[in-house]
Amino acid sequence: MIARQRLKPRDLLIPTPLGLHCPLADVYIDPLRPVPRALVTHGHSDHARAGHGAVLATAETLDIMALRYGEGFTESRQAIAPGETVRIGEVAFRFVPAGHVLGSAQIVVEARGLRIVVSGDYKREPDPTCAPFEPVACDVFVTEATFGLPVFRHPPAAAEVAKLIDSVRLFPERSHIVGAYSLGKAQRVMALIRQAGYERPLYIHGAVEKITDYYLAQGIPLGEVRKVTATERKAMAGEIVICPPSAVQDLWSRRFPDPVTAFASGWMRVRARARQRGVELPLVISDHAGWDDLQATIREVGAGEIWITHGEADALAHWCGTVGLKGMALHLVGYGDEGEAEPAETPSGEDAP
Ligand SMILES: [Zn+2]
Ligand SMILES: [Zn+2]
Repeated sequence: MIARQRLKPRDLLIPTPLGLHCPLADVYIDPLRPVPRALVTHGHSDHARAGHGAVLATAETLDIMALRYGEGFTESRQAIAPGETVRIGEVAFRFVPAGHVLGSAQIVVEARGLRIVVSGDYKREPDPTCAPFEPVACDVFVTEATFGLPVFRHPPAAAEVAKLIDSVRLFPERSHIVGAYSLGKAQRVMALIRQAGYERPLYIHGAVEKITDYYLAQGIPLGEVRKVTATERKAMAGEIVICPPSAVQDLWSRRFPDPVTAFASGWMRVRARARQRGVELPLVISDHAGWDDLQATIREVGAGEIWITHGEADALAHWCGTVGLKGMALHLVGYGDEGEAEPAETPSGEDAP
């Protein structure tokens, strides 16, 4: 009998140009191109791609993939519940909430006493639209570093939404157009607006409708949400309209009465970004962990080795070194700001001016 010696991390997961590969189970996590067997952390387009042979993911992530890509997005699919374990060969895979968007999960990969946690995208701030991040103790923690620089300390999201609501009260004759990514951010902004006590209907652009309807069907409390039609735009004085980021600068937004343009993103911390986009009311609301929460999470999971998939990987790896941890930048190409690469959910002509 072959001795079952302890594995090295790279025997369990190897970074490849297709994404993280687990050779013992022959599966990829969040593969960047079609593969026979994929495990998917969440529905954003840089992690969830169409064309795999089989996909293992939470029921919500599978539903979101079907909504975005059509039912034929994979040949076969298997849903896994939070906390549930699926064994493939000698490897156990467990999905644990990541607090990023509805259905988002970390994937715990374990064999022969070695445990690697692939966190996907995550945040630690409470979010009324999804289950909170659960820290899992591990040997190797695989993290993103989208906001892995000291400048990225996100303010409380409720305070940012309060700015929006104050502006609506101050300028009742103007419409407020809020750019937000169509999966996750748009619905979180709506839920935060409701938590702030705002009760008027919220209006949405057609491109946000499909995912918003799905969140509502899953029981996420967003209050009354209406799709704004072309003819109604002129009547939107004093109302809040949520649209994808690209629509903020479009002709689409200019048909509203004297629009105040807002954009909800962690990038709004950088003033130049807000100016570039012509954003009058930047709202610093991020679905990714900021600098402090990246560090707190790394300390909490107690891993000795930190693999950093994308973002400010070198900065975070350097910090790991300063606290005696082994930090490694993987520089996986293809992950990043999903908002820049959102799949077209609505033919662009539908809401043209
Ligand atoms: Zn994401
Ligand atoms: Zn991502």
